[in-house]
This record gives sequence, C-alpha cells and structure tokens, in this order.
Amino acid sequence: MNNERILKELSQNPAIPVVNAVDLDLMPLDGDIGRIPPIRPLTDEEKNMYEHSLDNVSALSIPKPGTKAEEAELVRSFLSGFGKMLSEDDNWTFWQPLMCSLENCVQCQACSDACPIYIASGRAEIYRPSYRAEIVRAIKRKYFNGSSLRTTGSNFEVNWPLVARLAELSYRCTLCRRCALVCPMGVDNGLITRELRKLFSQEMSIAPTELHAMGTMIQLHMPSGYTPDRFEQMIQVVESDIAIKTGKHISLPVDKTGADFLFIQTSLESPAWLKCPECYYF
Ligand code: SF4
Ligand code: SF4
Repeated sequence: MNNERILKELSQNPAIPVVNAVDLDLMPLDGDIGRIPPIRPLTDEEKNMYEHSLDNVSALSIPKPGTKAEEAELVRSFLSGFGKMLSEDDNWTFWQPLMCSLENCVQCQACSDACPIYIASGRAEIYRPSYRAEIVRAIKRKYFNGSSLRTTGSNFEVNWPLVARLAELSYRCTLCRRCALVCPMGVDNGLITRELRKLFSQEMSIAPTELHAMGTMIQLHMPSGYTPDRFEQMIQVVESDIAIKTGKHISLPVDKTGADFLFIQTSLESPAWLKCPECYYF
C-alpha cells in the first residue's frame, strides 16, 4: 500500500474503523500469558464518548470533540507539534536519528516479520512497523518543506479522524525496536513511534491515563526504577567497598551544602549493577 492510500484510508469515514481488532486473528501466546482474556468490545456509551475509529479499541480514551471548531483546533495543535518534532532547534536530541529514519526507508518490509505486534495481529496491515512511519513521511512531504508550512502537494487532508487514529496507532507498538535491529537501512520505527507519542503527550495532552496514574515516573520516580531508597542503599555499598579496599571509613553525604566534590552517575547503572559498584565507580 502506498503512502497516499494509507493517508486517505485514515482520513476518511470516521464512523468506520479501519480494522476491527476484536475480529483479528490474534496469535496465541505461550504459557500463562496465553490465557489473556479476549479484547472486550466497547459499549455503545464508550463508543459515543471516545475516539475508536482506528480498530474499535480505545487505549487512550480520547474524548470526541464536540464541534468542528474543536476539531480544527486539535488539528492545528497536531501540526504545530509536528513542526516542532521536525525542527532541529526544538527537537535537537532526537532530530538526527529521526531524520535519518524518515529519509532512508526502501520499503523492503524486512521489519514486518520482526514485529511482535504485526505478527500477533495476524499480520494486519495497519500494525506494520513502517505503516506509522509512512504516515509521518507523507505529512512531512505535504505540509512541511524545511521550516515553512506548506499546504499543497499530495491528495489527502490532515483532519481530526486521521490525527485521532494516528494517536491510537502510536500505542500499537511496544517500542521494543526489534524492527530497527533487522532494518538494512538502520531505520528506527520505534523511535518514530516514540516521537509521535511525545508529540501527542506534550502538545495535545493525549496519553494513556494509566501512565500518569500509575506510570513509571510517579510510581518508580524515574524510568529505570531507581528510587531514593535504592540510592541510599547504593551509597552504603560504595562506602563499604571503599572501606574494604582502602581500610578507610569514608562517609559519602547526600545533598550536602558546600560539598567539595559533586558525584553524578547515570541512574541506569545502579539498578542494573547494584552488586557491582566497581564496574563503574573506580
Ligand atoms: S526494514 Fe527498514 S527499509 Fe525495510 S521497510 Fe522496514 S524500515 Fe523500511
Ligand atoms: S518497536 Fe514497535 S514497530 Fe518496531 S518491532 Fe517493536 S512493536 Fe514492532
């Protein structure tokens, strides 16, 4: 399927879901995981309240806009955020790999067979790893040329049905990046998906409620799971290690005002290597 057909499919007929996830030939899983319950169909009340026109599932509980003016404002926010995503100044941390991933796909589809979502869905077209990327490329080509906004080009429209479907689609991915490992061009579809989530979350406040209520930042303090308690634990391990190695008992104060030395380490290493401070301390 080419990019324009994908875009037309997503921007038309908001009353008709692109696929019905409930009907998909879902792959059985091994062990206990294999006993997951079937996808629960939305109630009529939920269908009236929330966007679900991608696949009859609402992972994000996006409220349906009440008026055309609201829809237009949401589309405007999306395109504004899209422009920031493509801007080297606004998105300098991920701009280079994002641009490389957007510019280098050769449509070989090697990534498809590596994707657990695509395989588990029974190979439904909309869950291909490069499907989302093709949407992003088409929007970029039509609406953005360098830093200037353009409204000419391909024969499709970025409208609210397309934006709402793309938001849901950005959560039909585990961000495992298996697709990136097999891509001969180094395209990172997981990165593209994550950038889309960032756009929806930061620019439009669209994100799964559960992530805010029980997600990693609140529940675990940081994505690695490194809590204040574990940090204190780590300090004690280091003090003990110093004592063993040097015979000197040196106290390592935390948050000391006027300290002579400031020690900063990556949060990732401590949870991963709690038993082995030597690996990265000395
Ligand atoms: S494997 Fe890479 S080049 Fe091939 S379709 Fe997927 S993203 Fe594109
Ligand atoms: S990162 Fe997403 S698209 Fe890529 S293989 Fe994993 S689930 Fe599929």
